[in-house]
This record gives sequence, structure tokens and C-alpha cells, in this order.
Amino acid sequence: MSTERYDVVVVGAGTAGAFAAATAASEGVSTALLERKSEAEAGQIACGDAVKGKGTFPGVIDLEYLREESFTNERIEKARFENPRSGETVDIPFEAPGSVVDRKRYGEVILEEAARAGTDVHYDTVVQDVVQTNGTAGRNGNGAGNGDAGRVQGVEAVRRGEPTEYEADVVIDAGGALSVLQDRADLSGATFDTNVSYSQFCSAYREVIEVDSPVEWDDALVFKPTEELGYLWYFPRTPTEINAGLGFQMNKPPMELVETLKRDLRSRPEFDGATVKNKLGAALPTRRPYDSATAPGFMAVGDAAGHVNPTTGGGIPGAAKAGHWAAERAIEAVTSGDAGEQRLWEYNRRVMADFGKRFAAMDVYNIFGGAHDVDELVDVLTALPGQQIVDALGKEGTASMDLGLKLKTALRTVGHWDLLYELYRVQGKAAALKELYEAYPASPAGFEAWRERRDALMDEIYALTGADPKY
Ligand SMILES: Cc1cc2nc3c(=O)[nH]c(=O)nc-3n(C[C@H](O)[C@H](O)[C@H](O)COP(=O)(O)OP(=O)(O)OC[C@H]3O[C@@H](n4cnc5c(N)ncnc54)[C@H](O)[C@@H]3O)c2cc1C
Repeated sequence: MSTERYDVVVVGAGTAGAFAAATAASEGVSTALLERKSEAEAGQIACGDAVKGKGTFPGVIDLEYLREESFTNERIEKARFENPRSGETVDIPFEAPGSVVDRKRYGEVILEEAARAGTDVHYDTVVQDVVQTNGTAGRNGNGAGNGDAGRVQGVEAVRRGEPTEYEADVVIDAGGALSVLQDRADLSGATFDTNVSYSQFCSAYREVIEVDSPVEWDDALVFKPTEELGYLWYFPRTPTEINAGLGFQMNKPPMELVETLKRDLRSRPEFDGATVKNKLGAALPTRRPYDSATAPGFMAVGDAAGHVNPTTGGGIPGAAKAGHWAAERAIEAVTSGDAGEQRLWEYNRRVMADFGKRFAAMDVYNIFGGAHDVDELVDVLTALPGQQIVDALGKEGTASMDLGLKLKTALRTVGHWDLLYELYRVQGKAAALKELYEAYPASPAGFEAWRERRDALMDEIYALTGADPKY
């Protein structure tokens, strides 16, 4: 087996990995980015291709170049929810315009940029194992990990058919959903979240479809609820190229994804005579972010750490930020010669202080939704005005309705007031949870106590919704 030595080894050349590698390499830290796909295939990923504005990406790569090359539709102004039974729609305007990208080109550009920053990108390199120091992996008194015991020191891979060991001060796991590294590593001595099961994931499938005539909704992300607490989506890459897909939560009975999409496409006249250009499926985490994504010498980022909005499946901006923040800690660890959890911890805190608290709160609505009949949820959804839905989903908002609108909403929701009242109480719990995440500990010492408080609040949420515990 040959051996390579780097300061930082990043596994997985998706969004999280590319941003992590670009950040580390641009600061002069020797960085390898390992990707199992070939150079020609890299960047191709099963995705809905919808992203928020470029402002949400760390400026460590040339974002203008990324935008010019891959943001094919920058005029997304609203989300449109369709009632699957009545066909009725609710439009919710975005605060800032969103975009849909050419995902392959986007993936290529971020890798070009990581290489330009000085990363050694090794394609055709399948990581199979983690190299850890021997010693009793056991958490010390304050949950900070005990320095070197169980420290991750590198990975074992097969590179173009040749077994290769990569040694590193810090390994960043950007291997995506259900990453193999976490199966292989012994993380029991660290704070790293191992309470992860397939039922907290969503199975999703998408097609890129070319239609003959421009669609009239090319400024909207179109969503339509399905059984199994999933949704179909139609995201316009251009007025004639549509990313259409769907997913279901894996704690529900499996859904015939391809057939369900076909059926829906047949019911839409704009897809008559359309051509399917590409098909792909994958799993994505629809859960709260990992409580901690650090272990000595090791951090997980992006899908590998549950950094996806659990209600929309949006994970691209979170992956980019997490990759960037983790690499900042990795640089500090390399410079100081200390890759213990205490040193890496600020990465966890930054995630929680930013999107982590919001995604944890959104997960409460997933738990609530999973305990109810989809038809009833749809009735309530389409009866509520847009602002109320935005508020219920944890964004800032006034929740104010004039009396006329209140009366109209009350009439349209007749028969569902129990559910609405429950939603109101769930909203209160989600806000309390968000506050708790805002108080995420500043060091590993406070982690266990914080987690106990969070778990107690989650117990209240399960009791309120009647849902089975998700974690
Ligand atoms: C169907 C679908 C639709 C989605 N729609 C959207 C959307 O519209 N908007 C949005 O923001 N998000 C969406 N997401 C989520 C989004 O795609 C992910 O959150 C995002 O791509 C995560 O990036 P990542 O870098 O963490 O992981 P990935 O992009 O999955 O990258 C992981 C990389 O690691 C590589 N890898 C894995 N294991 C190994 C190994 N052992 N050795 C070497 N390399 C390895 C993989 O080949 C891959 O290149 C969707 C996801 C799915 C599945």
C-alpha cells in the first residue's frame, strides 16, 4: 500500500467537500480532496438544483464565475404549493430571488475552484476505511474527548485500483448521506452524534426534462404534497428545462417514485411530448443537524452531518457553509498541532448559531406532519394565507391577519380546528427549541447538559403530536 501525507484530507467532492478543500488550500494548508467518481462524472448529483442567491455561499471561491457558468434561472420569485385534490394553488413570495442551476456545471466549477486554490483533487479514489490511533476511546470527564485516544489520523482508499493510505492531521467527512466513514470509525469516545438511522432520511428521485414550449411558471418552485409525507417538485432550470422529482420519508412505507412521477407528468399538459434528459435517485437526510459533528481529528460536513433543511430538502447552501467553517477549524488545528475536540468545537457552534437552529426547529414540523393524515394537512395548508405558512415554518413574520382574512381562514378551515390548535402549540415548541439551539454550548464541557435539556423538550413534542420518537 502506498502512503500519501496531507495536513487535511477531505473525503467527497460535492458542495461541502469542494468548499472545505478550497478554504483549507487557499490558506496554504496542504489539502487532498478524494472523490470516488471519475473526473468526467464528478459534479453530477441527484438534486432538485434549486438554490438561494449567491450571497449565501462563502466567498472563498469565485462566486461570480460560478453564477455565470451554472445559474441558469435566477428569476425564482416564489414557491407555489398545489393542492393535489383540488388543483388549487398557494403562492408564497421569496424575500430574495432564488435560482435553479445546471447542477453538473455547478459541480464542475466548484471543483475547478478548489483545484485553483491549491487542492490536490484525486478522482477515482474510493475511501473504504478510517485510520485511528489505538487506545481506549473513552470520553473524558467533560465530554471533550481525550486528546489522542481514538484520534482519526487518516483514511484508507483504493485509488485507480491501488490501495493507498492518506495520513492527515484532520479528516473532513464530506461523503454525503450515509457516509461510509462514520460506519468505519469508532466515534464512541467523542461527542460525535451517532444517533443516526435510515428512518431519518428521505429517498428521492429526479428527472431533468425538456419541454417543447416555455412553461408559464418559470419564476416559481412548484411543490405538490404526496402520500408518505413527501412532495413532488417542479423546478425550472430554464423555461423549457425542468427538474422534476419527488421523495418520501423512509419511516413510511416505500413509494413507487418513478411511477408516481410518471403519473403526475401525464396529468400536466405542458409535459406532452417532453424528453427526459437525465434520471438519478439518492437518499438525503431529513432530520435535525448532528448534535455534534466533531471527534478528535475528524469533522463531518454537509449531508454527512444532516445539514439539510428537513422540510424542503435544501442542502446546498448549508453544505457550502459547513465545509467552509470546518476547514477554518482544521487550519487552526494544523497550525496549533492540536486536533482535539475542544479545538474543533467552534465549528459545531457556528453551525447551530446559523442554519442549525432553524433546521432543528423545522424538524419539529416534520415530526408533526408525520403523525397526521396528508389530506388533512393539505386542507389546512391551502386554507392558510401565505404569511401564516411562512410564520408557521419558523421564519420571521408578523402573523397578523386583518379581521376579514381571519374570518375567511376560519371558515375554510372548519373541521380542522383541532389540528390548527395543535399546529399553534407545535409552533410554540419549535420556537423554544430554536432558543435552546441559540444557547448551544461554547465548549464540549456544556454539551451533555445541553443535550439533556433538548431531549426533555423533544419528549414534550412527541407527547403533544403523538408521533413516534424520531431519535
Ligand atoms: C433528489 C434530491 C433532490 C435535492 N434537491 C435539492 C435542491 O433542490 N436544493 C438543495 O439545496 N438541495 C437539494 N438536495 C440536497 C443536496 O443535493 C445535498 O444536500 C447536497 O448536495 C449535499 O452536498 P454534500 O457535499 O454534503 O454531499 P454530496 O453532494 O452528496 O457529495 C458527496 C460526494 O462524496 C462522494 N463520496 C461518497 N462516498 C465516498 C467514498 N467512500 N469515497 C470517495 N468519495 C465518496 C460522492 O461521490 C459525492 O461526490 C437534494 C437531494 C436529493 C437527493
